[in-house]
Amino acid sequence: MNRADLHTHTTASDGLHRPAENVRMAAEAGLAAIGITDHDTVAGLEEAREAAKAYGIEVVPGVEISTARDGQDIHILGFYADDRDPVFLERLASQRRVRDSRNELIVAKLNELGVSLTWEAVLDAAGRDRGPDETVGRPHIAEALHRMGAVESVQEAFDRYLAEGRPAYVLPPRIAPADAIAWIHEAGGAAVVAHPGLYGADAAVEALLRDGGADGVEAYHSDHTAEDEERYAAMARRFGAVATGGSDFHGARKGRVYHGPIGWRTAGAAVVTELKSRASHHRAKATGAASRDDGGTASD
Ligand code: AMP
Ligand code: ZN
Ligand code: FE
Ligand code: FE
Repeated sequence: MNRADLHTHTTASDGLHRPAENVRMAAEAGLAAIGITDHDTVAGLEEAREAAKAYGIEVVPGVEISTARDGQDIHILGFYADDRDPVFLERLASQRRVRDSRNELIVAKLNELGVSLTWEAVLDAAGRDRGPDETVGRPHIAEALHRMGAVESVQEAFDRYLAEGRPAYVLPPRIAPADAIAWIHEAGGAAVVAHPGLYGADAAVEALLRDGGADGVEAYHSDHTAEDEERYAAMARRFGAVATGGSDFHGARKGRVYHGPIGWRTAGAAVVTELKSRASHHRAKATGAASRDDGGTASD
């Protein structure tokens, strides 16, 4: 077996396990590689890379960037972007500022609805030892609602309050999917449209592959049906794009694994090679553009 799970979350965002634990679980599942794709942060990558040495598997460095199109959340995965690029890091920091103020608005809406949740309770649910680059997300708010007894499960918190269309849902001013794709490319990474089956907007996904510069689409995902998988694999072939796959593992609460366990959806080794090659193409272009900006060797 030579498979890679290219979509997992850690405690750097709303996952329940530390990056090193995800790597260990991937090794135990017999995977050759694991992608670490936290929401709007690369804070988990260093620990994951360190752990990967001990467990003898490969880490595919990633990120999952929150964007919106026509009032709907669209997630863009970035693979092999330079996680020390200061411009990229500042862009991710700006995403986290938007996220923080959105989170406050969600808490305010809940308070208006008569649910007396505090921000401190959300931070408690997220775990107090969070680093400054780690993100807080709706699953933490859901967990806090559960702990205070306002709902009977994390799922109920989404269904009653936090999901799109529910009364405490807030869509903050977000960048467009094409912006996230450009950020990833400028940082020398490959950009992939995450879980397209959750959007009900195939024409928009096609447009991102055709004109938006996306390198691939996440055809295989824990929340996709078999028909979704076939449809997006075919879409990838049609546009000469990469078809990636991953579980979107977030850990388990009370025995219920959100999205899927590590290894539940995977991609083959050729997909990892293709992502690397596309990333190095973008990196070469980005470096070329930077050296031209510096007045460096341009055209001879
Ligand atoms: P955020 O980035 O803070 O908006 O949180 C997004 C995360 O919330 C996703 O990665 C999912 O794990 C989780 N999530 C989003 N919508 C739902 C839903 N309807 N039910 C359960 N979990 C959800
Ligand atoms: Zn998440
Ligand atoms: Fe996502
Ligand atoms: Fe995700």
